[in-house]
Amino acid sequence: MGHHHHHHPPFEKNFYNEHEEITNLTPQQLIDLRHKLNLRVSGAAPPRPGSSFAHFGFDEQLMHQIRKSEYTQPTPIQCQGVPVALSGRDMIGIAKTGSGKTAAFIWPMLIHIMDQKELEPGDGPIAVIVCPTRELCQQIHAECKRFGKAYNLRSVAVYGGGSMWEQAKALQEGAEIVVCTPGRLIDHVKKKATNLQRVSYLVFDEADRMFDMGFEYQVRSIASHVRPDRQTLLFSATFRKKIEKLARDILIDPIRVVQGDIGEANEDVTQIVEILHSGPSKWNWLTRRLVEFTSSGSVLLFVTKKANAEELANNLKQEGHNLGLLHGDMDQSERNKVISDFKKKDIPVLVATDVAARGLDIPSIKTVINYDVARDIDTHTHRIGRTGRAGEKGVAYTLLTPKDSNFAGDLVRNLEGANQHVSKELLDLAMQNAWFRKSRFKGG
Ligand code: ADP
Ligand code: MG
Repeated sequence: MGHHHHHHPPFEKNFYNEHEEITNLTPQQLIDLRHKLNLRVSGAAPPRPGSSFAHFGFDEQLMHQIRKSEYTQPTPIQCQGVPVALSGRDMIGIAKTGSGKTAAFIWPMLIHIMDQKELEPGDGPIAVIVCPTRELCQQIHAECKRFGKAYNLRSVAVYGGGSMWEQAKALQEGAEIVVCTPGRLIDHVKKKATNLQRVSYLVFDEADRMFDMGFEYQVRSIASHVRPDRQTLLFSATFRKKIEKLARDILIDPIRVVQGDIGEANEDVTQIVEILHSGPSKWNWLTRRLVEFTSSGSVLLFVTKKANAEELANNLKQEGHNLGLLHGDMDQSERNKVISDFKKKDIPVLVATDVAARGLDIPSIKTVINYDVARDIDTHTHRIGRTGRAGEKGVAYTLLTPKDSNFAGDLVRNLEGANQHVSKELLDLAMQNAWFRKSRFKGG
């Protein structure tokens, strides 16, 4: 794609008027609403979430399509994502699959498009949605058509594997919306079947999968060929380092919306990192502190490997601790029994592996102990999210030994992201990792 240095006429991107019910919320009610929706929002001056469709100010045509879809209320990511996108802000949306991210960017997109000058012959799209696969392209395209009907907007899907010729023809006929896989869009632009001159609303959906599939270069190339004052939205199910870096490079002053238990550490969980000399000192630390922890609530102890979980559970039992064990090789009825005993507080301590602890939602867990560090930072986040549920406070301890310098770097970032204290000892350990050291000295 050649670089074009056209003059870009100014455009409007803020279409949001906060509803008075939302304006009237007290600061505490606002906190409660975000808690209820399990939302964590960061960035400069984020708009407040809405809690019903009435709060979005959509017109009757669009509401008609939404009602036809039998949506009665916005999902949590929509509650916060729509006000952010409608007010013209760049956004990073992190929420798990099935949470309704697609409509969160499509509805504001339609309103954005309707405010722009109509397409003229030869014009390219106003909105471009980039996603990793053909199936996803078709799915998003179908949603664009469904909701775009409200205003007779046209959508074209272009993806690898489909007919170049047919896609080119559809592009040349003109469409306000293009849903694409990255490589195929670039091919069409190179062949001049379309152009990106008029794009002012740019979405990258499932950015983490695009990275996994090796599309980083294409993604960046598309971003660099769209006018810099565009609105950009990035969606992902996780917020790994690479996504964070991409976001820093292609978004401007974004608002980050994390919905659910993934993506980022929870500020209701106080994280304490203990740096110990060796495996045996972890054992000493644990046996010294465990009784104290159980006196404030249930304790969940994470061990990475099944065999180590069994060993730790046995050793603790010999010390006289009452506990349960949960790992992936147990059958479902055994697991259910242990979980229900733990829930009923018949057993105060549960030793578990990550597979087994997926989805555990037990409000009485006050302490999580990462006896072994997690395989990666997403797993870590998931682990500590087992406490601090529903606005309750929790504490998560992470035991590190000098072997864990790689993980220490990720942990520093994770703690910083959740406004948690980073000790000098932890930073020193992280600094032993060359990659982390470099990233610090660059000032990033
Ligand atoms: P994600 O992109 O987060 O994985 P999708 O946008 O694909 O999720 O939405 C998942 C499903 O939820 C879809 O079938 C979609 O039609 C439906 N959906 C989206 N928003 C709502 C809503 N407000 N009410 C009910 N269903 C919804
Ligand atoms: Mg999606």
